[in-house]
Amino acid sequence: MMLTVAAAFNAVMQTVRDLGTETVPFESATGRILREPILADRPFPPFDRITMDGIAVNYESFARGQHIFGVEDVQAAGTPQLQLSNTANCIEVMTGAILPDMTDTVIPYEHLTASEHEGFRRFTVHKAVKKGQNIHRIGSDIATGAVLIPTGTLIGPAEAGVLATVGKTRVKVSKLPRVVLIATGNELVPVHATPALHQVRMSNVYSMLASLEQMGIKARYIHLPDEEAAMKDQLQALLAETDIWISSGAVSAGKYDYLPTVLQQLGMQQVFHKVQQRPGKPFLFGRFSNGPVVFALPGNPVSGFMCFYRYVQSWINAAMGAALPAPAYAQLSEKVVFDAALEYYLPVKLQSLSDGRMIAIPQPYQGSGDLASLLKADAFLTLPLEDNVFEKGNSYQVWKFR
Ligand code: AMP
Ligand code: MG
Repeated sequence: MMLTVAAAFNAVMQTVRDLGTETVPFESATGRILREPILADRPFPPFDRITMDGIAVNYESFARGQHIFGVEDVQAAGTPQLQLSNTANCIEVMTGAILPDMTDTVIPYEHLTASEHEGFRRFTVHKAVKKGQNIHRIGSDIATGAVLIPTGTLIGPAEAGVLATVGKTRVKVSKLPRVVLIATGNELVPVHATPALHQVRMSNVYSMLASLEQMGIKARYIHLPDEEAAMKDQLQALLAETDIWISSGAVSAGKYDYLPTVLQQLGMQQVFHKVQQRPGKPFLFGRFSNGPVVFALPGNPVSGFMCFYRYVQSWINAAMGAALPAPAYAQLSEKVVFDAALEYYLPVKLQSLSDGRMIAIPQPYQGSGDLASLLKADAFLTLPLEDNVFEKGNSYQVWKFR
């Protein structure tokens, strides 16, 4: 029995295995999946931090009715803590500086009038003052030892800043999978070649290379002819030291579609062949024990593309210990009719409206060979198997590739 997409996806995800970890300099950890919690090495902020330029005073002075303060000193950012020697005076303080000892309240210059008295600088306060104002208290954001970034987080710009703040120069991240892309077909010629009338340039591997590159993964690729013996020899040599094979083509019902047979001969356990989906129905998935998982995708470019974003990407993310993103949804902009008993993945342009809705606009699409249709699309809209008529305004899950 042909599997539904949901069953196929579950079967794929059952094979996920941990790829292990490695430790890298934090500057090159962007885009990687963190595999250790990052803890606060100090309180945040690490000292009572001044948040306004002005003066620091001891609030008790106001209780005594005082509102003119002589300046004892200046506490600049980056200088060790000073001490107010006479609580009837003040210390000028700058944003980012540590609060001087014996002071507890900061009054900004905007609320002060500066003057001179017998060669001394002094300030008159002309606004109401609240005890403790304009101080970012030590530890008020985060206590020492608190988890700042949990394990499993994708490291982006915000994480890079926090890693720097806590002085985490080397971080433990997931290893990247070792991926081999496998193009099949005697009709394929290299990109730099001029194809004869019956030939086409090999494009699928370049789409996949780009998709993987966006995940920070560098892959290599090979090209197999439609010949059983040659396929077997070349694949045999690839078995060691790879985590994932992603092939395109040679898994349908064609006379020269040898890949399923060859994979079986090599000892691959087939998990499924064919899924109730369009495009991508001939998708074959299997695994070698102690070897790679095999995503044998159909050759039609849109099929391979869809299978990558629907299955391969999730497998890789899960293997790297990343949290899977929450599903995204969009509303169909026009009625669509689809008769086949397959889950339909329709290329759509996404448009977000000011009322917060996300609209999916179907793009002109001539079927799974129509690679150019993806240029104007951002995502695949999932139209469920059970229905044939999909009304304008109905909401469905989207799989974004942009
Ligand atoms: P197949 O699944 O081998 O029957 O291939 C289906 C269609 O996809 C055929 O038109 C192939 O020429 C095309 N195709 C297969 N592999 C590639 C590839 N790597 N790049 C571009 N087109 C491909
Ligand atoms: Mg082929």
